[in-house]
Amino acid sequence: MNQKKVIMSACLFGAICRYDGKCKEENAVVEAFKEYEIIPFCPEAPLFGTPRERISVLMSGEVKHIITDETHRDVTALLHDAIETFCATYPNADAIVLKSKSPSCGLGTTPLLNEKREVIGFGNGIAADIFLQRYPKVKIKDEMDF
Ligand code: SF4
Repeated sequence: MNQKKVIMSACLFGAICRYDGKCKEENAVVEAFKEYEIIPFCPEAPLFGTPRERISVLMSGEVKHIITDETHRDVTALLHDAIETFCATYPNADAIVLKSKSPSCGLGTTPLLNEKREVIGFGNGIAADIFLQRYPKVKIKDEMDF
């Protein structure tokens, strides 16, 4: 029998890949998927290194832009391409667990900012938006569901 697969934000199972050089290991998530093959996912660390400048989701009307906090670079296209490449490499998964509140991985919990960098709501990070399209049959969760 084929082992089930879970795509998981890498910082949730101990990878040192967060912007602040830390991980966010969640024992309950790791335990819940101990029988699964884990496919690690982190679009930011390979592109920008660890630690790295923070990024945020800025709204321009209905359009999301991912902007670096200090140098104000628009890295939306870089992240978009990296995430699409990941989806093409791993087209099949039985489950997906993402890290909440992240500009990449957040699922409905990511702060959305206006041009003055005020929080105007909460939504999906860029990876969650793409995953919802690319894995329409997979229930996507975040660590707060465990
Ligand atoms: S939240 Fe996503 S992008 Fe951020 S460190 Fe974790 S896996 Fe990487």
